[in-house]
Amino acid sequence: MSGLKINTDQCVGCSQCIQPCPVEALEMIGGKAYENGNCIYCGICVNACPVNAITIEKSKKENGDVSHHGIWVFVEYDREGVLPVSYELISEGRRLANTQQETLSVILVGEGANRFINGFNQYGVDQIYAINGDFHIYEKEHGVANAIIEITKKLKPNILLIGATAYGRSLAPRVAASVNTGLTADCTELKINVETGLLEQTRPAFGGNLMATITCPNHRPQMATVRPGVMTIQEVASQKPKVISIPFNWSTDYGITLLSTHYEKDTHSLREADFILVAGKGVGSAKNLKLIKQLADKLGASLGVSRPLVDLGWSEYQYQIGQTGISIAPKRLIAFGISGAIQHLAGISKAETIIAINTDAEAPIFGIADYQVVGDCVEIAKQLIEAIDQKKSLI
Ligand SMILES: Cc1cc2nc3c(=O)[nH]c(=O)nc-3n(C[C@H](O)[C@H](O)[C@H](O)COP(=O)(O)OP(=O)(O)OC[C@H]3O[C@@H](n4cnc5c(N)ncnc54)[C@H](O)[C@@H]3O)c2cc1C
Ligand code: SF4
Ligand code: SF4
Repeated sequence: MSGLKINTDQCVGCSQCIQPCPVEALEMIGGKAYENGNCIYCGICVNACPVNAITIEKSKKENGDVSHHGIWVFVEYDREGVLPVSYELISEGRRLANTQQETLSVILVGEGANRFINGFNQYGVDQIYAINGDFHIYEKEHGVANAIIEITKKLKPNILLIGATAYGRSLAPRVAASVNTGLTADCTELKINVETGLLEQTRPAFGGNLMATITCPNHRPQMATVRPGVMTIQEVASQKPKVISIPFNWSTDYGITLLSTHYEKDTHSLREADFILVAGKGVGSAKNLKLIKQLADKLGASLGVSRPLVDLGWSEYQYQIGQTGISIAPKRLIAFGISGAIQHLAGISKAETIIAINTDAEAPIFGIADYQVVGDCVEIAKQLIEAIDQKKSLI
């Protein structure tokens, strides 16, 4: 059993450990700190204590075997093909593999093992684990999870990455729980710490008000789901990957009968758009939002919005950019009346060039904008529309 130990002889009763504890697990009794049974072993108090009176002990049994090797990416595909997030993870996986001199492997399951086997030649993939089956992965999620669990236990990867799609968010926890490891969900950044060799998995925490970097030191694989659109796809000169076919018995009855499937294509074009206008609460009204849409159409750009516009019913959720919306990576982005809250910035950090228009010269969005325009975004939109119309009438 792991446990929080407070050395009461060492404790000087300074109370510095009490307030930082996120679950109020520490109390002062008779001038000494005591743990009240609520501890979640986060370790914050260990660092807070100035006299090193607090330690967290772990039994050897709880520390798993960490001598695992290789970086794996689970490939998700739909009826159209491999999802962009899978290529994003493969490119990120290649980068991590280079840092650690590891092998990069992808896992292809179901009918995709045949259909997409030749699609990874230009992404630096070393190996493909192909687990064949005559079905689409969405039809047999339990089976797919079990297949991944089986090969993970057998082949012991160091890192396993899965896209944070609806499917990936359901698949990853099943795998993590079954192989007894941790899972960092919805990551926006991954990095190998060259000193410890651990995967540093960064994701928004505490309602998006800060970014937390999480490691998994005692168990393998180090598992993360990663948000679509936050990593960059990069082609690299590479050899054709080695294909390793893995047999799996799909006949197991998981107690679920599939009655019918209804396929709906993800029509989201914002993730792929090169030029996006994003409207924030500063546009002032649903009518003005239409004006920004008009400008977007004239410029050949797509339109996204900040969350308040969805909350106000001016726009639909599918257009929301940010931590709880979608992440975008356009070449050019113009922000109209956006303050630049951290939850919004989480969705636009990959934009190449950002132009921000805001009446407040101190607005945080200006901190990340390449071009800052202090002014009324509605007036500026009207003038731009006029200028475009005039130019067209001259042609
Ligand atoms: C858990 C959580 C998740 C969240 N997820 C998201 C998310 O996914 N996406 C998201 O966007 N937000 C998200 N939010 C909300 C986020 O915290 C902000 O409240 C939101 O991004 C603010 O949107 P805004 O910039 O449009 O509005 P405001 O913060 O109200 O800013 C409006 C800006 O417009 C400027 N302005 C006013 N009038 C004009 C004018 N005429 N011309 C030019 N500028 C003008 C103002 O100076 C101001 O800077 C989340 C919050 C939480 C707690
Ligand atoms: S380890 Fe974390 S949860 Fe436990 S007492 Fe310390 S601060 Fe609180
Ligand atoms: S911070 Fe350390 S010394 Fe201070 S009360 Fe807590 S355990 Fe005792």
